[in-house]
Amino acid sequence: MTDILSLLAYDKAHIWHPYTSTINPLPVYPVKRAEGVYIELENGQRLIDGMSSWWCAVHGYNHPVLNAATERQLKDMSHVMFGGFTHRAAVELAQKLLEIAPAGMEMVFFCDSGSVAVEIAMKMALQYAYARGKKDKKHFLTISKGYHGDTWNAMSVCDPVTGMHSIFQGTLPVQYFVPRPGCRFGTPCTEEDIAPLKARLASNHTDIAAVILEPIVQGAGGMWFYSADYLRQVRELCNGYDILLICDEIATGFGRSGKLWAVEHAGISPDILCAGKALTGGYMSFAAVMTTNQVATTISSHGPYVFMHGPTFMGNPLACAVASASIGLISSYNLPKMLGRIEAQLKRELGEASQFPNVVDVRVLGAIGVVEMKTDVDMDMATVQAQFVKEGVWIRPFGRLVYVMPPFIITEEQLHILTAAMIKVLKTI
Ligand code: PMP
Repeated sequence: MTDILSLLAYDKAHIWHPYTSTINPLPVYPVKRAEGVYIELENGQRLIDGMSSWWCAVHGYNHPVLNAATERQLKDMSHVMFGGFTHRAAVELAQKLLEIAPAGMEMVFFCDSGSVAVEIAMKMALQYAYARGKKDKKHFLTISKGYHGDTWNAMSVCDPVTGMHSIFQGTLPVQYFVPRPGCRFGTPCTEEDIAPLKARLASNHTDIAAVILEPIVQGAGGMWFYSADYLRQVRELCNGYDILLICDEIATGFGRSGKLWAVEHAGISPDILCAGKALTGGYMSFAAVMTTNQVATTISSHGPYVFMHGPTFMGNPLACAVASASIGLISSYNLPKMLGRIEAQLKRELGEASQFPNVVDVRVLGAIGVVEMKTDVDMDMATVQAQFVKEGVWIRPFGRLVYVMPPFIITEEQLHILTAAMIKVLKTI
């Protein structure tokens, strides 16, 4: 135990954790190991994971198939540069990925993380415009309350209010924002809902390189599920103005919203798609940007004749091997049944929270269950977190949102423990 205490003391004194102070950091719980849906703390307590490690661990932890794929690849090589080399792991993954990708995706760029994938997608759109001689197309149009990552261009299209725009004002690229669609998932999109986007495209289409958005599910910016009809109309408007559509499926890809890709809810395909997080089943940081032949060949047909990006760990074999195995698992699941069951149970068991005095809204889509509170939970985050841990679950609220997105392999009983803990704790805040 002394050992753990000194580990925690060192951590507190020297290690940054996400979005917390170094002077007075939120507590961190030391994890020893994880298996299936369980995260085991150093003190032996086992928590049922409600977060899938931020959308990633869809198969749970320590999965034998993913472990085996990683070990196999490790024995051949964990890494080799992608400039001038290729390897089976990358080619196999590209084949698997493009096979299941939305229609039209034919070229893939492998990179290191979600934020980098967004940077790449935005650079692709800019180079595409440049290649077509449309040099005024330097901006992006997006919807408010979005989240696309923490790097520079990604940050510029995150929500300007809840994102980091005020701190970095004057240094971030300036983009166009329209209000988030008010039309909820499952409802039609009215003329009023789409009007701001329509108007912005009408007035600025000559300087917009692409529309970038999270399809259907806005994640870290507000956990909001919007109408598939809205997304369909965005696609049509982009076609009409000859503007690219970038769909950031980093959080939604591989089934989270109830469909393999969230764009499937609207029956559309983007011009550029970003995938990450669950791509490796949560095993390691990796992402992929997919696009059409048309975008790729246009970029390559004009000076500088290449796409200007090439990260060190591009096409990392270890990540490719585990991602292939993860896609193999996804393909072996009966996803509609698996996610339909989770969705139905979340609806059934979280529904009563809508009656609680501090709750504004309860919404569920696929394997995502969200309870929106009237006031920020952040203020008392440490207490709330401790309450969840006491209940034997791992749920990490942010802002006014308390939500779960468990691994897909969670059983009915385990999910019940998660929702029961959520209901119990929500009653107290
Ligand atoms: N886009 C979306 C929709 C995300 O949810 C995230 C991560 N939360 C990112 C991009 C950034 O990914 P990463 O943290 O891997 O850089």
